[in-house]
Amino acid sequence: MDQAFGTADFLSRIGKVRQAAQVGGVDAVLVTPGSDLRYLTGYDAKALERLTCLVIPIAADPVIVVPNLEVLAAKASPIALLGMEIIGCDEGDDPYETVAQVMQGIAKIAVDDHMWASKVLRLKSAMPLVEQVLAGQFIDPIRMRKDAREIDALRRAGAAIDRVHARVPELLRPGRTEREVGRDIAELIIAEGHVAVDFVIVAAGANGASPHHEVSDYIIQLGDAVVVDIGGTMPDGYCSDCTRMYAVGNPGSEYREKYDVLFEAQKQSRESARPGVSAGSVDAAARNYLDDFGLGDLFIHRTGHGIGMQTHEEPYIFQGSSFVLEPGMAFSIEPGFYDEGRFGARIEDIVVCTESGIESMNHQPHELIVVE
Ligand code: ZN
Ligand code: ZN
Ligand code: ZN
Repeated sequence: MDQAFGTADFLSRIGKVRQAAQVGGVDAVLVTPGSDLRYLTGYDAKALERLTCLVIPIAADPVIVVPNLEVLAAKASPIALLGMEIIGCDEGDDPYETVAQVMQGIAKIAVDDHMWASKVLRLKSAMPLVEQVLAGQFIDPIRMRKDAREIDALRRAGAAIDRVHARVPELLRPGRTEREVGRDIAELIIAEGHVAVDFVIVAAGANGASPHHEVSDYIIQLGDAVVVDIGGTMPDGYCSDCTRMYAVGNPGSEYREKYDVLFEAQKQSRESARPGVSAGSVDAAARNYLDDFGLGDLFIHRTGHGIGMQTHEEPYIFQGSSFVLEPGMAFSIEPGFYDEGRFGARIEDIVVCTESGIESMNHQPHELIVVE
């Protein structure tokens, strides 16, 4: 079990969620397995059809309801040190009734944003008069503001994925398929310290024009530009995500010119990011530059997403967003251009907002790396 975060962190996070929920007029917050549960308790529980549910009432101590067969796992996790009651449920028990009993007299609950619909509806059946709202409005603002140790965790994740990118040139050559390269990259993601491979995008040639292409049996050709966008989860639950661009042989002068524009657009976006500016202005820095050089229409997605214990979380960096960045917020800056049927490109760093600017979690060069 990871020791980076301890009882004091979890109790403080639970306290903040409870306070936010109270201000929001909610009587209890319910959290099922996923990154919210892990963030709040350190318990990395499996999401099963059986109900595991942390209940944080505003007016009483938190409890966690778990299937009996998970009680040992719960007791072996950091949750055991939080002094909260662990209520085991037999196969024959109705865990939703158990939750309902814990919450006698309650009028309004918040359920975590990633709770399975089947569970939300069964909670509704067990407590038909209780109003349900989403808990993300209380949890996300806390998760979004990372403390020094969380930022350190993101630094380690960034360094791990940087080490993978450093070895990508060894793997790329004409005649190999995207899938073969992707398999090698997945092995490296684990070898460099992640415990899970979250995604591997190896998009060569025209496949690069689809932002979320993963891998295929396409055989890499001489002259192909290759988008390599990869990420994983570290043992402490924090995620990496980084895109670098490679070319196998010479991708041609048109591609190189467009790449230079993207290189500058991504740099301008990074330089624009600091506390006090809006997410929309960070998006605009990249978008306007691409626009000025005729690539604006080919930039078909938002500039970035927050990252932490999930690869995609708040804050989102998109056109027109008035959301104001603050120190401790971590997000990607990943503009690109996508020319259907021809080629694509994206450059992505994870950055964290500091007191005066940003710190990048990724340090591999941004230049197009040509593999001969
Ligand atoms: Zn994405
Ligand atoms: Zn990303
Ligand atoms: Zn990415």
